[in-house]
Amino acid sequence: MSSHFIDREYIEKLLEEAKSADAAAGDAAIGRALDKAERFEGLNHREIAALLVSEKPEHLQRIFDVAGKIKRRIYGNRIVIFAPLYVSNYCVNRCAYCGFNCGQNFERRKLTMDEVREEVKLLEKMGHKRIALESGEHDGECPIDYILDCIKTIYAMKFENGEIRRINVNIAATTTENYRKLKEAQIGTYILFQETYHEPTYDRVHLAGPKRYFDWHVTAFDRAHEAGIDDVGGGVLFGLADPYFEVLGLMIHNEHLEEKFGVGFHTISVPRICPAAGMNIADFPHVVSDDIFAKIVAIIRIAVPFTGMILSTRENHEMRNKLLHLGISQISAGSSTDVGGYAKRERNEASTPQFFVSDDRPALSIIAELIDDGYIPSFCTACYRNGRTGDRFMSLAKSGQIGNVCLPNALMTLCEYAIDYGDDSFREKAAALIAKEIPEIANDKIRQRTVENVEKIRSGAGRDFFV
Ligand code: SF4
Ligand code: SF4
Repeated sequence: MSSHFIDREYIEKLLEEAKSADAAAGDAAIGRALDKAERFEGLNHREIAALLVSEKPEHLQRIFDVAGKIKRRIYGNRIVIFAPLYVSNYCVNRCAYCGFNCGQNFERRKLTMDEVREEVKLLEKMGHKRIALESGEHDGECPIDYILDCIKTIYAMKFENGEIRRINVNIAATTTENYRKLKEAQIGTYILFQETYHEPTYDRVHLAGPKRYFDWHVTAFDRAHEAGIDDVGGGVLFGLADPYFEVLGLMIHNEHLEEKFGVGFHTISVPRICPAAGMNIADFPHVVSDDIFAKIVAIIRIAVPFTGMILSTRENHEMRNKLLHLGISQISAGSSTDVGGYAKRERNEASTPQFFVSDDRPALSIIAELIDDGYIPSFCTACYRNGRTGDRFMSLAKSGQIGNVCLPNALMTLCEYAIDYGDDSFREKAAALIAKEIPEIANDKIRQRTVENVEKIRSGAGRDFFV
C-alpha cells in the first residue's frame, strides 16, 4: 500500500499558491469558502489553504464567528468528558518528543490486571464512563492479547455505581488481523496520531522502532477500516512541523478516508507539543503560539463540521475555555499520563508521566466550572452502544438530528454523575442546568422520556438511560 495520498510537494504548492493569490481574487475566494462553511457544507483542502494563510483581521474574525456558529448549532453547549488510562510504558520506539521513548532510562512497567482494576476503580470514582486506553509499542511486553485482556477487564469492572461504558483505544499502528481483534473486543474509536504529515520531519523525530516507517503509520486507518473499525480518530502533534502543512495533511487524510471508506475521521485531536522528560522544547522550532492555535482549531471546526474535536489536559484552563467556544467538543478531566498514575496520585507517590499536564485540577472542579461557564458536561457513550458508528453516525450528524439524541443523553448522564459523585453545591448546579435545558429538547416524545428518566435516576428506580 502506498502513502501517495500525502504528497508533500502538492501540499507545499497549495500553501505557496494560496500565499501568492491575487489579493482581490483571494478575498473573493475566502468569502465564498466561508459562506459555504456557514451552510455546514465543510471545506475542501484548497479552500482550507486559503483560510490558513490569510492574515487579514477581518478574515480571522469571520473564521472565529463561523466556527462559533457551527459549534453552537451542531454541538450546542455540550462537552463530552473522558480520561486517559495508560496501561504500559514499554516502548521500542524512539520518538524525540515523548517521555516514554526507548532512550529514556526509567523503570518501565505495565499494569497487572489487578492494577488495571485499581486504576479503573479510581476512574469510576471520578465518575468517568469513557476512557482512552493508551500504551507504548512493545510486542514482547505489551502484545495485542495483553491489550485485549485489559479491555475485557475494564468492561467487566463495576465499582459502586461506576462503570466504563466506552473504551477508545490509542495504541500503535498494527495489522488488519489485530484491528479485527480490537473490533471484536468492542472498542469505541481507534485513535492514532500521525504526529506529523511532513515526511522529512517525521523521519527526523522518529529515530528508532517500527513507528519510523511513515507509510506503515499513515495507512493504519486503512487497515483499521478493512478490519471493520469504522470510527477512527486522527490528530497531529502541533509543534513538530509547519502547522498549516499539518492541517492540510489532516484534511487530505480525511478526504482519503471519505473517498475510500465513505466516512472520514470520527474525531480529531489537537495536542500541542509540551515538555516531557528528556526533551527540550527549544529544540522544536515550530511551537505554535496561542493565536495561531486558536485559528487552527477554528479552521478545522468549519472544515469538518461533523467531526468531534478533542482537547487534552496539555492545555491550561484559560486556553481550554477559549477553544471550547471555537469548536472543541470533548475534553479530558482529572487526567494522569502515567502508568498506574491514578493509584500513585491517591498515594501521593512520584510520577513518570508521558508528558506534563497543564490543567491538573480534580475532575469535579473542571466539570463544575464547565457548568458555571454555561456548558453541559456529558458522560454520554450512546452512539457506539446503539450501533451508531461510521456512516450511520455521520448520516445522523449531517441530517442535523444528532442534537436530538446528544442533548437528552447529556442531561441524563449529568444527572447520574451529580447524584453519584457531586457534593451538595454541585447537585444544585446540575439540577438547575437540567431544568433549564430539558425544554430545549425539540422532540416531544424524547423530551417526555428524558423527564421520566431523570426522575427515575433521582429516585433510584433506574439508571444508564440513553437514546
Ligand atoms: Fe512510544 Fe508512543 Fe512515546 Fe513514541 S509516542 S515513544 S510510540 S509511547
Ligand atoms: Fe456522542 Fe452520540 Fe452521545 Fe452525541 S449521542 S454525545 S454523538 S455518543
